[in-house]
Amino acid sequence: MKFPVRFILFILFIEIAFNGYPQDNYTWFKISEVGPKTWLLDDHGDDNIYLLEGDDKALIIDTGMGNADLLGAVRKITDKSLFVVNTHGHPDHSGTNYQFDKIYLHKDDVEAAKMFSGKKPNQNNQFIGEIFNPEFIPVSEGYKFDLGNRVIEVMETPGHTPGSICFLDVKNKFLFTGDNNNSLVWLFLDGCLPLSEYLKTLEMQVSRLGEFTTLYPGHGPAMSSEFIIDQVNCVKTILDGTCEPRPYESFVGEAKICSSGNASVAFNPENL
Ligand SMILES: [Zn+2]
Repeated sequence: MKFPVRFILFILFIEIAFNGYPQDNYTWFKISEVGPKTWLLDDHGDDNIYLLEGDDKALIIDTGMGNADLLGAVRKITDKSLFVVNTHGHPDHSGTNYQFDKIYLHKDDVEAAKMFSGKKPNQNNQFIGEIFNPEFIPVSEGYKFDLGNRVIEVMETPGHTPGSICFLDVKNKFLFTGDNNNSLVWLFLDGCLPLSEYLKTLEMQVSRLGEFTTLYPGHGPAMSSEFIIDQVNCVKTILDGTCEPRPYESFVGEAKICSSGNASVAFNPENL
């Protein structure tokens, strides 16, 4: 597989930007309980890591940038045996995979995740915690993680990446969405699917709105599930030409952006 240039730039940016940051996990993660037995570990403001606990096991959703001792932070909350999953293979969601021996994710994002799952030294050239070379276990639509009186189910949501998945907490009606349902979704990166494919994903989610009430995204605060309707409207206005796109600039390149309600989508006009 040929790795997209912008992926490489992305990881270089992260390495440069975070070199020299404090590595103390006691101050790195801002931890809050956002639902019953459900914790948000704010990864220094860059991304959201979630910890879900059932009667028997616990589940970590995404591993963040890789700059602090995630396992140590989790062990302050639960001593239950852990499942670890990635919503997708981008480095801000898979960066601490090296602290775990098994990672569950969709097969189409395994290659990307492998690029970012290596051990990372801190500013003193020391490695954090025990280092694993994780085994990647592919999961697909409907796969269930049974935590004990709490089942978490995989929902395939291709678009932002080919192997993006969300995790449905059936009992609590929570959906953990990675980068699929953020207030601003990037659909312009190399590797993103055409916008028309992303629309199919969003429409599938709308058809399942009865199953979840709250979205827990990979970046930013929790939102009502109705937010996905704004996303559908936003993408439709791009595809039918009724949106007048504005320019959008980021450290990984330029794109166009349209907004509708609370949703914005940055996209590549060559990949509709
Ligand atoms: Zn992403």
